[in-house]
Order: sequence, then structure tokens, then C-alpha cells
Amino acid sequence: MSETFDAIVIGGGVIGASTLFQLTALGCRKALLIERGEIAGGMTAHSSGIVRTHYSVPANVTIARASLGMFERFRDLCDGDPDADPGLVLSGYLIVAPPGPSSDAVRASIAMQRGLGVEAGLLDRKSALERHPWLALDDIDAIGFEAEAGVADPYLVTTSFLRNARRRGATVRTSTPVTGLLRQGSRITGVMTDKGPIEAGVVLSAVNVWSRIVASWAGINIPLTITAHHVFTLAADKPYGQELPVMKDLASPAKLYTRPMGGHLLVGGGHEGTLTDDPEMADLEPDHDAMIDEAAQAAARMPAFAEGRLARSWSGLYDTTPDWNPVLGPIPGMEGLHVAFGFSGHGFKMSPMIGRMLAQSMLGQPTDLPIRPYRITRYEEGEPLVGAYGTGAVS
Ligand SMILES: Cc1cc2nc3c(=O)[nH]c(=O)nc-3n(C[C@H](O)[C@H](O)[C@H](O)COP(=O)(O)OP(=O)(O)OC[C@H]3O[C@@H](n4cnc5c(N)ncnc54)[C@H](O)[C@@H]3O)c2cc1C
Repeated sequence: MSETFDAIVIGGGVIGASTLFQLTALGCRKALLIERGEIAGGMTAHSSGIVRTHYSVPANVTIARASLGMFERFRDLCDGDPDADPGLVLSGYLIVAPPGPSSDAVRASIAMQRGLGVEAGLLDRKSALERHPWLALDDIDAIGFEAEAGVADPYLVTTSFLRNARRRGATVRTSTPVTGLLRQGSRITGVMTDKGPIEAGVVLSAVNVWSRIVASWAGINIPLTITAHHVFTLAADKPYGQELPVMKDLASPAKLYTRPMGGHLLVGGGHEGTLTDDPEMADLEPDHDAMIDEAAQAAARMPAFAEGRLARSWSGLYDTTPDWNPVLGPIPGMEGLHVAFGFSGHGFKMSPMIGRMLAQSMLGQPTDLPIRPYRITRYEEGEPLVGAYGTGAVS
């Protein structure tokens, strides 16, 4: 006889973990998370961990803002768990743009954020340099800044969510690949694993770049491409401290983002990445020529890195949708199946509130913030989520 749960989450990354945690918060008594490998062993482990509310799509701003509030009161959220520390460092977020359309987009996004109650503003060069003295800003026209932004730790967040979901009675199974979906007509009734079937009233697929595999079991096509992105860290001859803000450089050819990490400068590209379409390619060797070029771009913005040493590099995959925003919620015509994919390189910062919205949607409850903008049918309905930045990971 197969086991039965009220709800099953497939995938033990930060999105699945947050959703399981929220299912228990909403009173779901028998909730199960199934992970094929280890917890946070997928793309969550590759994340740069940047949290900001700067977006040009208003729905993203409200989700990121609510998520930031959840990071800020993380221990309370986790029932006072003394070990629940999201590793949040609010060093601020600076976005710089050259004259032209990207400068206009920064101004428009800041105005929109302010309209939504976010404390964001424009800085002149002098005050930007007071906050970040390492910068060269001669070519820059617009400088956006939000103080309540910075970095957090994806591993600590994921494991805290799961530890507390377990404490509230949820079950977490690792080293258990899901191999198919159980189906009765157009209704999904559970999952098949390598250890046998498990039935459930509702199933969430939160498997990131592996989402097309789950979709194929349901017989549906999903709008998802897989792109590889490298990240590296540079060491200067003095430490690059945690007090320095996260930065986005729209004037650099690679649209670089940077953050402090362990006294070094973490550098990542904001470009489209390399199409791989293979979800197992996460540990791809980074492109060394591209890294040398991007290191030179970083040094043009922060001359202290002109003689910078490469300290570390790694690659990860983005689950990218046509508008670079996630697809969340039920699959029409496939009762019992919900999905969360397409975070396009910016899912960590939104994970606390997205987990809440997904759990509410799975339980048939109204969501705290609208989930409808993220529906899978928005592309064919001509309502993609595109703001002043167009497509890309700033979104
Ligand atoms: C290089 C890089 C930098 C990034 N930087 C940032 C950043 O600075 N800020 C930000 O907000 N976001 C960032 N992101 C994005 C963010 O990290 C991701 O959106 C987020 O971690 C995705 O979490 P997830 O739970 O959807 O996916 P994952 O963490 O990949 O979890 C999915 C899980 O599903 C499991 N799985 C797959 N198939 C099965 C199966 N059949 N059965 C059971 N389990 C299965 C996998 O093993 C995996 O553990 C970055 C991403 C990358 C790659």
C-alpha cells in the first residue's frame, strides 16, 4: 500500500524548503519534501546571495520587499529557533548607469519603488563615493541606492526553513529521486519515487533547471531555457569589507554585479549567459577569457582591482523564462499540480514570500500577494512581466 500525504514538494532548494515551511505554518498536517540528492545541493548552492528590492516590475518589488522583512525577522518567523540566522548583512545596494536609456530606467524604477513605499533614492557622485570609496564614477549619469539591501546566506536560509518545518511535523526525504507523477485522468494524485509511489492531494514541482523533466511526465511544455553563468572572486591588496554595498554596473559591457565576500570582491555577469539546455551542466568550467574580460571591467569601476588576483570561480545554471521572471502556481487543466520555476538568476531574494504564496495557492487559500501575474499562461495572453529594464536578471 502506498503512503499518503496532504501535500508533496519536489525539490530541496530554497524554494521548496520555504514552501514546505509555509505549508506547516498554514496548518498542513502531513507535508512531505522529496529531494533526489542533498538539501540545498542544486542551484541554491551556487547563488551569490544578493538581496535587494530594486526591480522595474512592481510585482517583483512587493515580493522582494516582503521577503526582506521576513529575512529581517527570520528567527521569530522560525518560532524563535536560536540557530535560525539567515546571514543577512544590510550593506545597501547601488545601481549605476551611463547616460541614456539605462539611466532613465534607473530613475523610473526608483520612482516606482518609492511609490510602493520602498526607501530608495538617487545619489550624487559625492554621496555615492562616501558610501563606496573604491568606485570610479566619471562615466556615470544615474546612481540609485537602497539602504535596506545586501546579502544573505542561501544555505542557512534553506536549512533553517527545513529544520523548522520538520519541528512542526513535516517530513523531509533526501537521496530520493522522484521518477514520475501519479495520475488519474487529468488529476495528479501523487509522485512515483525510486522507492515506490506516494499519494498526495497536491504536488508542487520546485526543481529549477530540472523542471522540463517533471513537465514531460505531465505531458506539458513549459517556457524554460537553461543558461550557464560564471561567478568569480578577486582579491586586492587590502580587504574588500562587508560594509561596502552590493553594486550593479549597467555601464559595464557585461552588466556586472558585485558584492563583498570573505574580504574579496565577488563578480558576476548580468548578461544572457551560455545556452546549455542540459540541467546536469552546473559544474561547467568557467569561461576563462570571459572572466579576464569581466575582471578588467570590474577594475575599470574599482581601480584597486587593476592588479587583482583571481581567488575563486564557479558556474551555475539559471532556469530562464522568456521574460526573466518566475512561473508560479497551478497548471491549468492539470488539477493537483503546481509549479515554481524560471527564477532566472534572482530567486533567492524572493524565496521567503514566494514560499508563502505557493503554500497558500496549494492549499486553495487566498495569497498574501497576487500570484496571478506569475501564471504560466501570461505569455500566450500577451502579459509578460517586463519593466523598464526589459528582460534580464535585474527585471
Ligand atoms: C550563479 C548564480 C548566482 C545567483 N545569484 C543570485 C543572487 O545573488 N540573488 C538571488 O536572489 N538569486 C540568485 N540566484 C538564483 C537563485 O540562487 C535561485 O533562483 C534559487 O536558488 C533557486 O532555488 P530552487 O529551490 O528553485 O532550485 P534548486 O536550489 O536548484 O533546487 C531544486 C532541487 O530540486 C532537486 N531535484 C531535481 N529533480 C528532482 C527529482 N526528480 N526528484 C527530487 N528532487 C529533484 C535538485 O536536486 C535540487 O536540489 C543565482 C543563481 C546562480 C546559478
